[in-house]
This record gives sequence, structure tokens and C-alpha cells, in this order.
Amino acid sequence: MTRYHVGIDCTDSATLGMCTTYLGAVLLERLKLKAASHPELIRLNPNIPWKTRGNGAVCLRLEGEEGIREEIFRISEQAVKELSVFEDPQTNPGLVVLEGDVPNAVNGFYHRALHEVLDTQEAVRLASNSNALFRGWKNRRGLIGALAAVGAELTDITNEVVVYRSGEDKGPKVVDEASIIKAALEHPSTFFNVSRDGKVLCIPRSPCPVLFGIRGMDPKDALAMASNIDTEGIERWVLWATNQHTDAHIEETRDIRSIRDHSSIRMVAMVSSPPRYERGSHLFFEVDDDRGDSIRCGAYEPTKGFRKELSELIVGDAIRIFGGVRSADNDNPRVVNLEKVEVLSPARKVEITNPPCPRCGAKMGSMGKGQPLRCKGCRHVDPSLKKLEITVMRSIQKGMMEPPEDAWRHLFKPSSLPEVGTIDQSGPYFGNRL
Ligand SMILES: [Zn+2]
Repeated sequence: MTRYHVGIDCTDSATLGMCTTYLGAVLLERLKLKAASHPELIRLNPNIPWKTRGNGAVCLRLEGEEGIREEIFRISEQAVKELSVFEDPQTNPGLVVLEGDVPNAVNGFYHRALHEVLDTQEAVRLASNSNALFRGWKNRRGLIGALAAVGAELTDITNEVVVYRSGEDKGPKVVDEASIIKAALEHPSTFFNVSRDGKVLCIPRSPCPVLFGIRGMDPKDALAMASNIDTEGIERWVLWATNQHTDAHIEETRDIRSIRDHSSIRMVAMVSSPPRYERGSHLFFEVDDDRGDSIRCGAYEPTKGFRKELSELIVGDAIRIFGGVRSADNDNPRVVNLEKVEVLSPARKVEITNPPCPRCGAKMGSMGKGQPLRCKGCRHVDPSLKKLEITVMRSIQKGMMEPPEDAWRHLFKPSSLPEVGTIDQSGPYFGNRL
């Protein structure tokens, strides 16, 4: 027996529907092979300018007898041709089939695809050198994600049970939201399916085949939750192992000089300008590193209350920023779009105030620079009195500030994920009935 890895990317359309994970699900059924491990849903660099969607690719890891690589490729190619939304200009499918162990260079390609903007030629070269079978359609950009998914190394894993209807079905999705809210409470190892304020987050609003996706830490519990949801028209489900909500896209960055456009960074910095709202609802401030370089940070309207928390920052606060780097354009400087911020050491906030009058208790007033203070009540002048520095209580404390669930991206790791013990990743990974 040998292992086969089938990577697929960029087959769907944000506007016209489909979903690369659905294609993976159909292919799992058609290939009729044993799973070597759970199929993987791999999120890649969220800051790729032309990828406005979740930038998710899939990899099926299968076991079969030796020498069936061509057959696997032929069946996969057929599924891509049949199900991809070729008419969307943004849809440029890629397929990679690799037999045996994944070469280190392909693992390295995955890690770079989380942080960098890679080019198709490099993917083509690496796939050829790795003895993979591959095909890219149209501008072939999907080869990058397909190869990166094959190279994925999941150290942190979360799960998503995705429940599909038929790809033909474009009508409204029939999923009972009340049953989701109830099930979420009964399955505490699941998360990000219902927001804290009771909004259902796990039903995509696009015309895709996904009825709903249940995210969780324990695959069996996520599957149990999915089976408790009232819905109509289930065609199939897949339990994906994912890098979602693991911060896999975040790179530790030493200083501002080494920040690259389109990467996602984590860096210790000092607030160097007071936060302010611009264009109404977006919050901006600058931070400095210890070399004295400076970069702008932004939190946008959809992050809601996160902006209000950040607006309490003052110059001198030591923080750790987490966010995606947007390159400068004609109108805007480079910005770190903040995903979350850890307050490491809040600065002391002082207010300078005049002392009370020693004679009558009224407040002393200033007579001008270099002049002694004079009482506003009894006019007493006292050259020995000095202005007072008062430490003001701050609402900010050490710890993490993060936006509400609506603003989370796929890779965003919230500060509190459900705690589970040792996770058993074995068990069923796809089927037709829940
Ligand atoms: Zn007085």
C-alpha cells in the first residue's frame, strides 16, 4: 500500500456558487479509497489581493495499492472539469496528485503560501521536481494552493464538519437556526458556530452547496452536533481537519524593517500616536519598534467594539500586534490591519492638576509660565506650591483585545478556544447520512 495526496484549489466562485470542499467531497466518494488521515481543508495567506474569499484549498490523503497514480489523476481531473465554475474570471483551478511521502520542499512551499504571494511558475517547477502529476486550468493560479495543500503540515488542528446539499441545488437553504443554537449549547467543544449574542454564523449566505459547517476541537463532538441540526436536502458530509483558528498565517516579526507586504505578523511595539477615527468609522494609530521605525495600524468598521477598546490605548503602551499587512497605495500608507492586540504593559496615564489652596481649599490657578500659583477663591499666592501629577485609572488591562466573532477570519485564533483533552482524530470522515 502507498499514500496518495490529492490537492485541489480555486474551483469555486464567490458569486456563482460551488465550493472547492464540495468538489473534494464528491471526489472522496468517486475515488473509493481508504483514508490515510482526515481530508484536510487548508486556509492559505488571507492577504492575497486577488483572493477576496477564504483562500481555502483541500487535500485528500488516501491509501491504495501502488501504481494507481494515473487513475487517481484521471478521476480527479474529470471531477474538476465537471464541477469547477470556469466562467468566473477569478476561478483558475489547480490539481496536484502526489504519490508516497511529501518532499520537504513541498512542506516548505505550504509554509510560504501562508505568508507570501507565490507565483505559478514556481509551483509548476516544484510539482515537476516532486514527480507529481498536475494540471492547472486558465491562468493556472490554483496550482499554488493545490500544491501548498499537499504540503500542509497540521501541527494545530481544528475540525469542521461540512454538510452539503447537491451542487445543482441553488434555492434557499433550509436549515433550522433554532436547532443550531440549541445544539451549540449541548456540544461545548464546538465553537464559532453561534456568536456570543446568538447570531448563527455557520450557514454560508452564498448560493454554494454548503448547507452549514460546524467548527470544533473534537471531531466526534462536532459530528454529533451536526447530526442534531434540522435541515433538508443533505447529499453528503465531510469531516475536515483544518488549520482554521490556529494563527498558522501569523509570523513572529522582530522589527518594522523586516515586515513584508501581504504577510501576517505578530510583533511587540509601542503605541506612538493617539488612536483616532478617520473617514468616520475606521480607527488608526501608529506604533514604533525599538529601532524607532514606525508603522500605521488600523481597525475597520466591521471589527465593531474592538475599535472602542483600542481607542483607549495611549502613547507609551507596550503591546503585541497581530495583523495582516496591506501594502501602501497612492492614497494610503502601509497598514497593519489588526486582528487582535495583546496589551503587555499599559503606560501610566497622568493628569497634571493644580493643588487646592492651603487657606480656603478652593482650587489654585495659574498666573502664567514661571509664575507662582494663585487661589481662585481668596487670591492667596503661594510660591512653594507645585502642580500635582495624578495617576489616572485606566480601563485598559494586560491581556488580549479581540473583535467579535463576525469579524474573525478563517485562520484567526481566539484567545479562548474550547479546552478538550487528547483528541482522537480517528473515525468516519465522510458519508451521505448524518
Ligand atoms: Zn484660597
